[in-house]
Amino acid sequence: MSVKLDQINQLAEEISVCEACSLHLARKKAVPGEGNVSTQVMFIGEAPGANENETGRPFVGQAGNFLNQLIQAAGLSRREVFIANVVKCRPPSNRDPMTEELTACAHFLNRQIEIIDPLVIVTLGRYSMARYFPLERISQIHGQGKWVNNRLIVPMFHPAAALHQPNLRPQLEKDFAMLPAYLEEAKRKRFPVVEEPAAEKKEETPAVQEEPRPQSFGGEAEQLSLF
Ligand code: URA
Repeated sequence: MSVKLDQINQLAEEISVCEACSLHLARKKAVPGEGNVSTQVMFIGEAPGANENETGRPFVGQAGNFLNQLIQAAGLSRREVFIANVVKCRPPSNRDPMTEELTACAHFLNRQIEIIDPLVIVTLGRYSMARYFPLERISQIHGQGKWVNNRLIVPMFHPAAALHQPNLRPQLEKDFAMLPAYLEEAKRKRFPVVEEPAAEKKEETPAVQEEPRPQSFGGEAEQLSLF
């Protein structure tokens, strides 16, 4: 088993017995998140609903089916990405998560992101957007990628919101369609290919070649001008 998978599984065990907030009282199963721990793309939703509470898996209801379609339309598959939530246990009657619940759960998601180390994070809905852009409105910044702490954060509407408000659907589909370009841009920026002058190449090429080093970026949000 890979080190990352080991760490993510260990974290999932901690999450499954967490009693840090009152949400544990009514939970059937905690929903730590699932997917490819070596992925470059991570999706962060809000909180488990009824189906997720039963199964322990994220996005398995109607919103999950729609999310799967959006992921596929972007040329990815659910198996190759990682999907998590800001809150790991179901809020009663699917109410919005409360501040103390978000605060109590935040360290789990922080550690998941640290372990997986994705290039691109897609936030789904207001609550996951607020982790990175607490003062912004999703209607203003959806689909606009910004660099935060060496990752490209792309806020998008929540799939459930687009199911309830059909006018959001074309916007969400358009935002997902930009995902491959954002991923390419993120790869280029993190792993720049350094061209060597042709004349010097022969002498200086080492027998064992190193992987290009990730370039480091500042913590400030920096908007991309892709589109
Ligand atoms: N299911 C999840 O796991 N998260 C959401 O935000 C919505 C549905």
